Amino acid sequence: SFPAEAVPQAPEDALFGLMRAYRADESKDKVDLGIGAYRDDNAKPWVLPVVKKADEILRNDPDLNHEYLPIAGLNSLTSKASELILGASSPALAEKRTTSVQTISGTGAVHLAGLFLARFYKVDGANRTVYLSNPTWANHNQIFTNVGLPIATYPYFDKATRGLDFAGMKAALAAAPDRSIILLHACAHNPTGVDPTPDQWREIADLMRAKRHFPFFDCAYQGFASGDLDRDASAIRLFVDRGFELVVAQSFAKNFGLYGERAGCLHFVSSPSAGAAEVTARVASQLAILQRSEISNPPLYGARIASAVLNDEALFAEWRDNLRTMSGRIIDMRRALRSRLEALGTPGQWNHITDQIGMFSFTGLSEAQVARLREEFHVYMTKNGRISMAGLNTRNVEYFAKAVDKVVR
Ligand code: PMP
Repeated sequence: SFPAEAVPQAPEDALFGLMRAYRADESKDKVDLGIGAYRDDNAKPWVLPVVKKADEILRNDPDLNHEYLPIAGLNSLTSKASELILGASSPALAEKRTTSVQTISGTGAVHLAGLFLARFYKVDGANRTVYLSNPTWANHNQIFTNVGLPIATYPYFDKATRGLDFAGMKAALAAAPDRSIILLHACAHNPTGVDPTPDQWREIADLMRAKRHFPFFDCAYQGFASGDLDRDASAIRLFVDRGFELVVAQSFAKNFGLYGERAGCLHFVSSPSAGAAEVTARVASQLAILQRSEISNPPLYGARIASAVLNDEALFAEWRDNLRTMSGRIIDMRRALRSRLEALGTPGQWNHITDQIGMFSFTGLSEAQVARLREEFHVYMTKNGRISMAGLNTRNVEYFAKAVDKVVR
């Protein structure tokens, strides 16, 4: 019989454990800066107005049914999603060098790409190790380990400046064996909020070209970082322009606020060559086989919503507006937090709060300070000092700044 007796207790997921503790806290002052989900100024989840509209349109469609999607997902979504990430005029699209599969949000896209690489990234001279930024989204470690790919890290965050350790990153990419797999956050790096500048991206691309590394882009925040969909995709487009063969894991959780609906895509882009379209077709056929055994076919609802928005000019324009609302409020909160800390004369430099971008800020608070914030002030954040900016609002930012001031002194 199966020796279930021998199964050890696994630790609770740190982030979901934090969420549970927050919910159980009865203080009226409590502040949730843990999970990366957008909240409005009333600390409430925000259903994007454009998503409400798309939902209404779908619900009034008498022909709507609940049949299975194809294995690769909703074609009207995947085709527009590839244009969204690569740019509608990308030569890669015109040359049919891309293939796209709808996935279980960004996590599923990272997993499916990981599974694909575990199966096929085996050619002579290639290094199967996946290099992750230090730090990175914690789930990356587990996802790649689960599919049997070794992982290593490259330096990313400079504790002194609370910015990018660019020299360390470049040295590690140069020292990695040729043709390694390098995971890059396309924008709004999680957990640090620190992104390379456009010039730095060009240098990274040059270096990776020389080393023939394989770029694996994780894009969970397109449009959410700067409020501009094209700008947030610019690193990916740079690498495609340079002729890299690459993958992109694309999540619609944050930018559509479709967290629980699990909408996302995996895109594979081949290098330009005479046979690129055939190569891409073979990749597509293998992704379909892997997808079939993993999930058979992806979920419908979130895909329909995102597709409705991406395929309608007016809804698309409204979505861009909604994105600016979310990113704008977050940028406002960065300014508000920094200016309050500076006004309080809180010891230390706080410019990184506004220099960093996207959902998260790596505050530089120590584990002990984070623990005090939770125990004395009912502020919930991950112990690495990361805060979700979306958890701050005009009502609690002052309270949070004062609490930080107290624990830092
Ligand atoms: N990658 C990164 C870097 C993320 O921050 C997230 C969301 N926390 C994801 C992938 C995947 O999220 P989801 O599966 O909800 O799309």
